[in-house]
Amino acid sequence: MILHGGTVVLPDRSPVAAVAVRDGRVAAVGTLEEVRAADPGGREVDLEGRLVTPAFVDAHVHAVQNGLVAAGLDLHDVTSVEDLLARLRVYVDRDPGRGIVLGQGWDDRSWPDPRPPSRAELDEAGRGHAVYLARVDVHSAVVSTALLNALPGVEGLVGYRPDGLLTQDAHHVCRGRLDQLTTDAARRTAAEVTLREAAALGVAEVHELGGPHLGPLADLTRVVDAGRALGVRVVGYWGESAGAEAFARMTEVGARGLAGDLCVDGAIGSRTAALVDDYTDGPGRGAQYLDLDAVVDHLRACTERGVSGGFHCIGDAGVATAVEGLRRVERELGADRVRAARHRLEHVEMVAAADLPVLARLGVTASVQPGFDAAWGGPDELYAQRVGDRARTMNPFASMLRSGVPVAFGTDTPVTAVAGWQMVRDAVDHRRPDERIGVAEAFACATVAGHRAAGDEAGTLAPGSPAHLAVWEVEPELLDPRTGLPRLDPGDALPRCAATLADGTVVHADGLPALRG
Ligand SMILES: [Zn+2]
Repeated sequence: MILHGGTVVLPDRSPVAAVAVRDGRVAAVGTLEEVRAADPGGREVDLEGRLVTPAFVDAHVHAVQNGLVAAGLDLHDVTSVEDLLARLRVYVDRDPGRGIVLGQGWDDRSWPDPRPPSRAELDEAGRGHAVYLARVDVHSAVVSTALLNALPGVEGLVGYRPDGLLTQDAHHVCRGRLDQLTTDAARRTAAEVTLREAAALGVAEVHELGGPHLGPLADLTRVVDAGRALGVRVVGYWGESAGAEAFARMTEVGARGLAGDLCVDGAIGSRTAALVDDYTDGPGRGAQYLDLDAVVDHLRACTERGVSGGFHCIGDAGVATAVEGLRRVERELGADRVRAARHRLEHVEMVAAADLPVLARLGVTASVQPGFDAAWGGPDELYAQRVGDRARTMNPFASMLRSGVPVAFGTDTPVTAVAGWQMVRDAVDHRRPDERIGVAEAFACATVAGHRAAGDEAGTLAPGSPAHLAVWEVEPELLDPRTGLPRLDPGDALPRCAATLADGTVVHADGLPALRG
């Protein structure tokens, strides 16, 4: 297939007029004549002026959880406890036969009476159903009595509260049980819903981060299967501490490593991110689930085996533990072996400037979420409330890139919505002006860097590379003539995705019927 009659954007090169795709790979780029000569006989598709770019990679998703939420009760715009309970009543009454009510997205900070709903309130509004309503950051949830009854022993765990708010271990156990309360078919459908949603935004590859506290190993298989059926490329990671059984599970599902959401700590919103000093607006310094020894053991085992290891780490104490673990394993095994293993850290929101060169030297990818800064950064937002002045150094994307840290973008969906260009825009419009980056840099973080994090060379449209590309509708006056990419000035509409190809397969097409033929 030859795409022509538009503009094909190549990273670090001038745009060209045509691209040929054959056997899942980019066969040639250049003028139409050059491409025809290099790939004779290709079916020609006229782009009618549209833009072609490498397709996006979302380096951090939870496809099943996102799909379940999409099919469940969306609480992102709830304005009070009463509003939440009213919506729960309507939702349950609409379909009283559902076994369990899943919802997500509430955030009590902006409510007139900022407090989570209580278990008694959920019992009443949920008409006695098992109810699970995750906070917006998905690191805590309120649950009903019927659900607690399905969680034997939860009362004895850290993070259990009799009023139904579960955090830390109690929340992890609850999440782990939800898979037994939802059907296999529902979880398969959920995975598909997310991957379709991603493909429609120009995303050709997602990194699915599974783990024992997030869902069963089978979820990773469900997402991989859904990816195979749709053509979207799925790279899996399994977030479990290294050991013979964990490696066996990783191999069983074809995961790239024991990385992802293996949690050193929790999240800022739930006050479970591990901090060096106390939270500004509440008691304590958060929760640290893995100590330095556990971090070192994990990284050593992964490095010795030559597979990616990694962690979820957000708070300054949590991130410092992960980086110190990397330093120690570097001393034991040498920088070359650590680099070769391709470790990655998720979120890395409160990282010390002095630790950035360590990540750069060891080739450790910072898998970050620009949407977190957009949602919760800024002087009066959640992060500033929770950690005060420390919020002013969070999510230093520009500093990371300047230090040579590989930075890959993701959404952590369902924590923030699946996104393509929105990831780029959020990084370009960082809440901290000193940490803003340019469109081309941000675009690279959302494309080629995601592939590299997984150990693949793709996302460049170089001949021979996998044909992951997206076709966009965008007003020509919104494009930057130097890069060929949209400028993304304030108020500019984001490009609309007309088609997405993953490994040369059309995984989304909307408005370009010739592509399907
Ligand atoms: Zn995650």
